[in-house]
Amino acid sequence: MLLENERQQVAEYGRRMQAAGLCPGTSGNLSVCDREKGLFAVSPSGMAYEEIRLEDVTVLDFAGNVADGTRKPSSEWALHAAFYREKQNACAVVHTHALYCTTFAVLRQPLRAVHYCIAPALPAYDPERITESIVPVAPYQTFGTVELAEAAVRTCGEGNAVLLANHGIVVCGKSIKAAFSLMQDLEYLAQLQYQAQGGAYVLSDDQMQEAKKRFTTYGQKPGGSSGY
Ligand code: 13P
Ligand code: ZN
Repeated sequence: MLLENERQQVAEYGRRMQAAGLCPGTSGNLSVCDREKGLFAVSPSGMAYEEIRLEDVTVLDFAGNVADGTRKPSSEWALHAAFYREKQNACAVVHTHALYCTTFAVLRQPLRAVHYCIAPALPAYDPERITESIVPVAPYQTFGTVELAEAAVRTCGEGNAVLLANHGIVVCGKSIKAAFSLMQDLEYLAQLQYQAQGGAYVLSDDQMQEAKKRFTTYGQKPGGSSGY
């Protein structure tokens, strides 16, 4: 079986996404990539997360050709493929309709640095360069289209997260653990931003640069982390 570990991660993290309340019904999808093979394992379209087994996960190449599996892949397979083609550091992609993130997607307002846990959504810390501290909103496109995939990856730029107008949110990470953790952090941040009702103090790009620097020595691993 091709990409057995990656398929296992898709099945396991799909159940976690569902249990965390991030994806109502069969909404949302996730994938894990093997960059050396140029293939990714993606959740099947319209299946209950708790029913997804290894063999239900489809393996595709970056052009969308099926390499293994019999299930119809997620309708957003082109979105996942576009992230892997355009963003070299992306090894996992998670898309949800999480309530608070989607609230800002329907308001067409970016997520802002109301909490420094936004750090891993931003371009990596670079002592030479300060970037804008937001999760931007991609223009509206119909779900499951190449147009949506292109708008999302273009608007995401060098960051790791993008809101989809009137739809939801997409994040990527160097592992499924990192991408899932970022999704949870952004839903927490979106809830904070919503509860603060537009009155929140927003951290400056300089303050976020300091927070990103601090994360490079955070935790137990040499080289730190990009966030929680
Ligand atoms: P799939 O069930 O086809 O993955 O679609 C869910 C979704 O969120 C579409 O944007
Ligand atoms: Zn969706």
